Amino acid sequence: MNEADARRAICDVCSKLYQKELLVSAGGNVSIRTDDGILITPSGRNKGSLKEDDIVKLAMTGKVIGKGKPSIEYKFHIALYNLRDDVNAIVHCHPVYCTALSVKGEKIRTDLTPEGTILLGDVPMVPYRTPGSDELVEEMTKISKSSAALMENHGAVTQGKTMEEACNRMEELEFQAHLQLVVGNVEGLPREEIYRLRRM
Ligand code: 13P
Ligand code: ZN
Repeated sequence: MNEADARRAICDVCSKLYQKELLVSAGGNVSIRTDDGILITPSGRNKGSLKEDDIVKLAMTGKVIGKGKPSIEYKFHIALYNLRDDVNAIVHCHPVYCTALSVKGEKIRTDLTPEGTILLGDVPMVPYRTPGSDELVEEMTKISKSSAALMENHGAVTQGKTMEEACNRMEELEFQAHLQLVVGNVEGLPREEIYRLRRM
């Protein structure tokens, strides 16, 4: 994907996630890997109405190429890209049901429906650390093998081979969190079915 298309893709995804209320006010950030670094949303802006020109280009060192103030979370985005060659897009949001579980310190279940198991797998909880801090970066590197994670008292993060995959995972994560809070304490899919779905 060339840089212009990548800038457009970030704006389109932010607009979609904002309309779905997964991105709220100035919260959250979205990035995509490019040939020579990453493109990431600007810091402190409402993510629902970004223009291509607002997206900030960073070298893998974190140095801004051109102009703009990158997301305060740019360090954990870069750290995750450095740990996974197959990850090309990262989405961080504060969706209300994911955040509700993260505030309750309740692990999200992904064994309630097939999609939860197929798209997300096991979803760990990142312990609370101050946004933008090196301590948060350190905790985020520990969940690099997961497709998605909740962030205690903060929100959620997903990653994917493509922006579409990372975005689908965020939508699915919020669906599963909502479902979990609606159904209460119920049996999940049988263990053999979980193994079968994971092999698909
Ligand atoms: P930014 O606007 O700097 O990306 O911060 C939003 C956020 O969600 C921090 O965790
Ligand atoms: Zn955040």
